[in-house]
Amino acid sequence: MWPSRNKNMDRMEFLLTLRRRGITDNAVLRAMDEVPREKFVSEETREQAYQDHALPIACGQTISQPYVVGYMTELLELASHHRVLEIGTGSGYQAAVLSRIAAHVVSIERYRTLAEKARRTFDQIGYTNIDVLIGDGLEGAPNLPPFDRIIVTAAAETIPDALVNQLADDGIMVLPLGPKNGPQHIVRLRRTKDGIEREDLIPVRFVPLVEGRAKEL
Ligand code: SAH
Repeated sequence: MWPSRNKNMDRMEFLLTLRRRGITDNAVLRAMDEVPREKFVSEETREQAYQDHALPIACGQTISQPYVVGYMTELLELASHHRVLEIGTGSGYQAAVLSRIAAHVVSIERYRTLAEKARRTFDQIGYTNIDVLIGDGLEGAPNLPPFDRIIVTAAAETIPDALVNQLADDGIMVLPLGPKNGPQHIVRLRRTKDGIEREDLIPVRFVPLVEGRAKEL
């Protein structure tokens, strides 16, 4: 373990970096200040937990860069009564941030190993408003809709219709769109009375959204 003085400085610097890069929503900044990111990264990368980059986790996946977590969370315009669906639990960090602002989060992961680890982390830190499901997130959670907000944290090549169909009226969905290893960008969809509005936003780099449940892990 590193000395606690450095740890506090890391966390102060973490928030300053988020602000400097343009995250202004206080609820998002407060949530990211509250969630202990070091509990979501692997033992080997713990000292880098508060640096602004993505880190490897089990099953060849990654925990997203904090700035991108803040940016996507801000785009969701979350309110405290919202029910949120996340596709791609991974470490559970993004779900944890969502859960500090919204009423309830359902998060779907295709790897059992990651889903179970995330559940243990939530238990350990006492976050009780997150349900982790093991399955194919491309199908969403067909028994649980509609969701006020949907966030996808793996890159889709095309917008998954099943997810758009699970979005409530006035709902917002945020996802990275683009090919595996190719140019991807963040897209925000909003369900209005006149149909679905679309905004194409910043370039990003995410692991791919893969169809089906993972076979072994
Ligand atoms: N939100 C995560 C980042 C995870 S990386 C975090 O905060 O740590 C993307 C995750 O999406 C990976 O864990 C990957 O296994 C998962 N994934 C990819 N395709 C999926 C699918 N079809 N259904 C569910 N999860 C999927």
